[in-house]
Amino acid sequence: MSAEIISGKEIAQAIRGETTERVAALKENYDFTPGLATVLVGEDPASQSYVGMKNKAAKEMGIYSRQITLEADIPEDELLGLIEGLNADPEIHGILVQLPLPKHMDESKVLLAIDPAKDVDGFHPVNVGKLSTGETEVLAPCTPAGVVEMLVRSGNDPSGKHCVIVGRSNIVGRPMGSLLLRKAPGGNATVTTCHSRTPDLGEVTRLADILIVAIGWPEMVKADMVKPGAVVIDVGVNRIDDDTRERGWRLVGDVAFDEVKDVASAITPVPGGVGPMTITMLMCNTVDAGVRQAGIQE
Ligand code: NDP
Repeated sequence: MSAEIISGKEIAQAIRGETTERVAALKENYDFTPGLATVLVGEDPASQSYVGMKNKAAKEMGIYSRQITLEADIPEDELLGLIEGLNADPEIHGILVQLPLPKHMDESKVLLAIDPAKDVDGFHPVNVGKLSTGETEVLAPCTPAGVVEMLVRSGNDPSGKHCVIVGRSNIVGRPMGSLLLRKAPGGNATVTTCHSRTPDLGEVTRLADILIVAIGWPEMVKADMVKPGAVVIDVGVNRIDDDTRERGWRLVGDVAFDEVKDVASAITPVPGGVGPMTITMLMCNTVDAGVRQAGIQE
């Protein structure tokens, strides 16, 4: 048996189409355009590329986007002042500060300065708290929100299923668990979370109807750690050496795709799986945030 491939690329494309239509309808019916501000401090090439992709996606969907680039040695107070201005700016409904920040800045202080209503990354403690107490009108972190969309849209609704998450980071594992536990569409699962202190990982992962892996360790989850027929979502993105490629490397996930696809009923590839969903969900959050701030009943 070879698993069905859940294509994040295709699902993200579909959501982008729906979001473009939603933004056009907001413009036509309410003369309202959601706005996203991205703030990049310094010149880290990977961060520059992520911010570039986010602005491009926003423009493609008709969302107003403003990219702000600051020198790497800018004082923290200046960044905090800029965020204060964006919090009060009526054209901006979502604020994204690209991480990591330069070492002289306190990341948690900067994230705390963002108005929770405009926190489209879903990292502000107010949004983290709302999500973990089961609120549904909340800005949830984009990667786990994307995983929920992939599950539901591929016909693998987590409701009533045992979902095992490997990884407990604030960006993926923890909010993933909160989303799957909610009494809401895309939730209502039984959730187990594993981490580096879980003594026998395979013993737990083999219980999963839906296995979600976010470790950051190339191809660590092998076929014998997966229950036959399980749905496997691989969040991991790792670069490994590959002499057969001209560039000398390739991307792999945290799951050994080639062997696990013969055990699972459905699996996400890397690349082309969870990756494309993250920026797409950021756009959905921006539109949701805008609609709420404007008090629009769509
Ligand atoms: P972190 O490093 O923040 O967290 C990794 C988690 O995995 C930790 O909770 C850690 O446990 C756990 N872990 C590490 N080793 C083991 C092990 N041997 N057995 C069990 N658990 C283990 O990573 P992130 O959550 O930020 O990212 C995880 C992966 O997802 C990375 O590959 C990253 O690149 C990718 N990613 C992909 C995104 C996308 O858009 N596709 C977005 C975000 C991340 P402990 O807490 O005990 O240390």
